[in-house]
Amino acid sequence: MDRAPHAPQLDTLLATQREAYRRDPYPDRATRLDRLARVESLLRDGGDRIAQAISADFGNRSVHETVIGEIFFVQAGIAHTRSHLRKWMKQRRVATSFHSLPGSSRILPQPLGVVGIVSPWNYPLQLALAPAVAALAAGNRVMLKPSELTPRLSALLAELVGARFGADEMAVVEGDAEVGKAFTALRFDHLFFTGSTQVGRIVAQAAAANLVPVTLELGGKSPAIIDPSADLDEAAARIAAGKLFNAGQTCIAPDYVLVPTARREAFAQAFLQAARRMYPALAGNPDYTTIVSERHYQRLERLVDQAAATGARVLRAEGHAAQASTRVLPPTVLLDGRDDQPVMQEEIFGPVLPVVGYEQLDEAIGYINARPRPLALYFFGSDSAAQERVLTRTVSGGVTVNDCLLHIAQENLPFGGVGDSGIGSYHGEHGFRLFSKDKPVFVQSRFAGTALLRPPYGPRTERVIGLLRKLV
Ligand code: NAD
Repeated sequence: MDRAPHAPQLDTLLATQREAYRRDPYPDRATRLDRLARVESLLRDGGDRIAQAISADFGNRSVHETVIGEIFFVQAGIAHTRSHLRKWMKQRRVATSFHSLPGSSRILPQPLGVVGIVSPWNYPLQLALAPAVAALAAGNRVMLKPSELTPRLSALLAELVGARFGADEMAVVEGDAEVGKAFTALRFDHLFFTGSTQVGRIVAQAAAANLVPVTLELGGKSPAIIDPSADLDEAAARIAAGKLFNAGQTCIAPDYVLVPTARREAFAQAFLQAARRMYPALAGNPDYTTIVSERHYQRLERLVDQAAATGARVLRAEGHAAQASTRVLPPTVLLDGRDDQPVMQEEIFGPVLPVVGYEQLDEAIGYINARPRPLALYFFGSDSAAQERVLTRTVSGGVTVNDCLLHIAQENLPFGGVGDSGIGSYHGEHGFRLFSKDKPVFVQSRFAGTALLRPPYGPRTERVIGLLRKLV
């Protein structure tokens, strides 16, 4: 692989961090808590500037969505980590196999060393800092490459981190995909990537070249199923809230919705009414987030136009008009579409919701299972047998029942995809374990029975093996 021009500086930074790791390979709890406190101070002191920077990067990003989806999210993760760190760091005694008694066994969670994190633009603070918090809590050093599509936030993050952390503890590397390539070619002790499935494949290959263990938090098309037992208006309102948060630019946003055929139209109307209640007008509405770039806006318009040109009906709420100049894309429902339309092939990542009809629940399950495994799945309904059927017969990264997005906010649930939507998971203790080497340690006793199994092998060995066989 050709080496990018940035590679030498990155090599130096990695060497500095690795050297610091070697000096202190097992930071005590106080050191780790101090690092978490510094991330917390960054959030507290940087709050307004963070919201402004992200909004300027997006065009308009609702300040409240930044507070909820980024700042509060990371703060809650830190609070949870702080209160559990002592327990997570503890060496855990485990039972010893009977043949090795009276020896003892335990597991020692150990920092891995230097962790590389590559993050996307859609929640540029959360997706950089949530994995960083887990990596720091586990005692690692962190190198972080945020997205070039949110340059103001990335620069601010570099400034805020640089003011609180030595470059050998945590450092931000700004840059585009080229920097990303050089970054992901480094010999980290773990590489954590959040982004598209397409780039994830490239990153996995780069990591494989150095046998760097990798976590991939990717995307895909996350379905929502409306069961006949669901309260349609309530389900539509909750799906609208989940879909339109950040204008649909959320990895776990419901991508499309499976609705009993006879209720498709009613669902579409309920969704648009809910959208109108939340956003009476779109132009200049600070609550409605805009599409991050011209290129992304045009891609979404093209998806809608292609669907319309091949038979889909495009529905929008009254008074909700598109505004290309400010990248305001209205909540849009697509009815009567086809599976071969690009909008049903690629991750939408915007406020466009195709509605797909089904007759029997198993048809909806089959539709999901015929496609790549989704990052999230949503089920709406009160029929618990139907709910169990969906849960046990589909495989997805995570599930929220009767609402959207919220499984991501549960500190005790692992967050991560499966198949095309990702490899590995984090959050809470799962994040701590991800960035730790759970080292198994067996301590032999003075009275080791295994001495009876040493050569020269003979009748005594046979008797001991016979006894062991009877005991298993
Ligand atoms: P992206 O894959 O284009 O970029 C992500 C990061 O990778 C950026 O920092 C970018 O600079 C870097 N990058 C780009 N090309 C690279 C290369 N060849 N080698 C190394 N690094 C490279 O993703 P995006 O557009 O920023 O984000 C949107 C995607 O991320 C969506 O698919 C979304 O579903 C997914 N996503 C997933 C999660 C999750 O938690 N699973 C969260 C948010 C977003």
